[in-house]
Order: sequence, then structure tokens, then C-alpha cells
Amino acid sequence: MQFGSIASGSSGNCLYAGNDDVHVLIDTGISKKRIETGLDELGIDSKDISAVLITHEHSDHIQGLGVWSRKHHVPIYATRGTLKEIQRCRSLGEIDESLFHVIRPEEDFYLGNLRVHPFTIPHDARDPVSFRLSDDRTTIGMATDLGTFDDHILKSLEGSHFLYIEANHDLRMLETGPYPYALKCRIAGSFGHLCNEMSGQMIGRLKNEKLDRVVLGHLSKENNFPDLALAAVKDELARDFDITEKELQVSVAPRSAASDLFRID
Ligand SMILES: [Zn+2]
Ligand SMILES: [Zn+2]
Repeated sequence: MQFGSIASGSSGNCLYAGNDDVHVLIDTGISKKRIETGLDELGIDSKDISAVLITHEHSDHIQGLGVWSRKHHVPIYATRGTLKEIQRCRSLGEIDESLFHVIRPEEDFYLGNLRVHPFTIPHDARDPVSFRLSDDRTTIGMATDLGTFDDHILKSLEGSHFLYIEANHDLRMLETGPYPYALKCRIAGSFGHLCNEMSGQMIGRLKNEKLDRVVLGHLSKENNFPDLALAAVKDELARDFDITEKELQVSVAPRSAASDLFRID
């Protein structure tokens, strides 16, 4: 399989995953034009995208969905709750409802030879999920927008060859930063976002012998820096799990440009 991040962070998220036969987008939280440009940078033709998976209805995950769908007419897969919120979101404009496909958390489905496993995440949206994607060779695990992680999340991402995991904020920067108190509580709460240290702890628990690369994503613009996230995660991995940089490569997804196209086999 292959994976690339097109945009990553609190202001917009869009990911690409696929293999030789199937190409999908995960979230459309940036403009259609930026999605197309990002796919182009990854070397993927927009016309080859055959499905869009949506994690939840927050605008940083759906704001490009209306324009994208009116141009590309590809099926949209999301939970019933997420689809309801998408329908209510006037700023998206008209979206052809025949494109909507209801998915249920913990119920796998196939897009061509790609097996999609949606799983519930603890986040303050209506019915949010994240995804694990597998084909007959490899498995990619993704999880952003989660306030905490538990055995269910770990189980859902178990056995991944590649991970894309949230490292949203540095706790001290969040605490001392400019956000209003209520927003700080929301972000740090168990239905908010993962801080750098928790991200490292979660990755350490998910390390298996097939896993050799992790990309950190959904970094806060105000409450984190790429180098800080990277250092904090590597610290946790080395200190608590004895995992070296040689065993597990960790990098950060760029905020508003396409990442490398990672080939996972
Ligand atoms: Zn969210
Ligand atoms: Zn988000």
C-alpha cells in the first residue's frame, strides 16, 4: 500500500491511501483545488480516487467536501451521525445524497481489494471514527482527533505496518498559550486531542516487528512545533519502550503541503 498526507493540522486535514488498484481520500478538510494539487504532488491522478472516507464532521475534516463532490462524484463513506451533520452543514452547499454510504463503527467493508475497518474514537463529534486499511499484503493504521487512547483503540490499530498518529499539542504550550480556558479544557480533555507525550505512549504500545514507520499528524499551530512533537515522541519511545530511531522512523506530516508518498510493504 501507499500513503501520503496532503494537509495535516488543526486548520485542515486530508490524507491519501491506496495501492495499485484502489485510491481513496480520508477527509476533505481543505479546498478541492488544494486536494487536487496535493494529489498531483503525490503523483496520484484525482480521477483515480474512487472513494472518500470521512472521520467526523468538524470543519477541518469536511470543508472541501461539497466542491470536491460536485466535481468528482465519488462515494462518501461515513457513519450515520457524521452524514447527518454533513447534511446540516450549509456551507458545504448541495451534495448529491446518492453518494452517501452509511458505515458502522467496528464493521469492516471493502473498497475493491482494500479492507476498511472503521473504529470509534473518543472525540467531541457526533459519531466519529478512524480507520485501519489493509490489503492482502499490508496494513495502515490512522488515528487523529482522539482525547485519549484505551485498549479498544490499541486493538483497532494492532498489527499495523505503518501508522499515522496525532501529536496535537505540547501540554505546557497549551496551558500557557492564548486559548480561552474552556477551549484549553476541551483540547486537553478525554474527548479532545492527544498531546505529544500520549502520542508517544500510544505508539510505543503499538510497536510490533512489522511496524517501522510512524508519521505524526494533526499538530496544533498555536500549541506545538514539529521539532518539539518529534523530540517528545522519540523521548517517550526511548525511555519507556527502549525503541530506537533505527527500529522506528518517526516524522511529522507537513501542515499545508503534501508529504512524501510512503510505500509500505
Ligand atoms: Zn475534530
Ligand atoms: Zn481535526
